[in-house]
Amino acid sequence: MKVQSSLMQLAATEYERIRRDDHLSEFVVNTGTLDLYDSEKSFRAATPEWAGKRKAGFDFHRVGRHEIETLQPGLAPQFENAIYADDGLQISDPAGFTRTVAKDLQRAGGTIRISEAVALEPTENGARIRLAGGGSIEARTVVVACGAWSKTLAKSLGEAIPLDTERGYNTTLPAASFPLKRQLYFNDHSFVVTPLKDGIRVGGAVEFGGLDLPANFKRSEMLLKLAKRFLPGLETSGGEQWMGFRPSMPDCLPVIDRSKAAPNVIYAFGHGHLGLTQSAATGRLVAELTAHQKPAIDIENLRFDRFG
Ligand SMILES: Cc1cc2nc3c(=O)[nH]c(=O)nc-3n(C[C@H](O)[C@H](O)[C@H](O)COP(=O)(O)OP(=O)(O)OC[C@H]3O[C@@H](n4cnc5c(N)ncnc54)[C@H](O)[C@@H]3O)c2cc1C
Repeated sequence: MKVQSSLMQLAATEYERIRRDDHLSEFVVNTGTLDLYDSEKSFRAATPEWAGKRKAGFDFHRVGRHEIETLQPGLAPQFENAIYADDGLQISDPAGFTRTVAKDLQRAGGTIRISEAVALEPTENGARIRLAGGGSIEARTVVVACGAWSKTLAKSLGEAIPLDTERGYNTTLPAASFPLKRQLYFNDHSFVVTPLKDGIRVGGAVEFGGLDLPANFKRSEMLLKLAKRFLPGLETSGGEQWMGFRPSMPDCLPVIDRSKAAPNVIYAFGHGHLGLTQSAATGRLVAELTAHQKPAIDIENLRFDRFG
């Protein structure tokens, strides 16, 4: 998918810029990433996927048991096949990173106001946001970046978008739970173990349960059991469970586009499993749309109405 590679490359470029930023650089760490496979068979089955990543410009190499053990001691013995990407980046503290971006916005003269938007309307020179409990905000440009909840706001402009949510789960354990050196992807089981500034996060799962169904934390527990099986020395007590809503489109591509009903409303949502990674690219594209400049990449395939 060409546009997905372009988005990832733009994200890489923008993260390099963020790595040079005085306030944000500390949050972007380079620990490398290790993608693990249970067997030679599953490793071979993933070969075309890795070939595609290589073609898109990603750099990595295959590693065997000996190197796996050096890269991450303490893994269960079945892991004899893996891919290691030395330049894999990671956000060490997603909440701290977000708070710092918000502070930078305020330093630059921006104001933060927290309210629930319930509907949008076009105005002569911009758009109006109707707020829950009455009241409204008028602006020259409105950016809808409400994740899985964006669909309702687009609908209020008469624009139906097939956005759904893939709910995911994680548990954040104390940092001392395991001497984790880098991010580990357990590809045959679709979960990830990630070192954070103040903990270890075990996360994954895909659940179609919409926005209202209560969380089923048995899924977090299942992931933790698997993590313990593959990292036998992991201490699994003292964790904090979480469920989140990945905003997902049927083709796994986000919507980054201008509304037709209200051209001063810009849509930026639907990043699925890659929202944190692609946030930097999205920020740049939204800034370009707002300034009526040519976007850094071709975003034709990210149109909100691409499904008709
Ligand atoms: C378990 C799990 C692991 C993940 N791991 C990764 C990963 O490793 N890398 C990666 O890149 N991505 C990952 N993701 C995906 C990533 O979290 C999402 O793609 C990303 O959060 C989407 O960002 P967003 O800002 O569009 O939406 P959100 O993060 O959902 O934010 C939307 C915001 O809009 C607010 N909002 C909603 N409705 C309204 C309204 N009506 N009025 C005002 N505000 C509103 C919400 O309160 C929220 O603050 C993971 C997701 C999960 C669940």
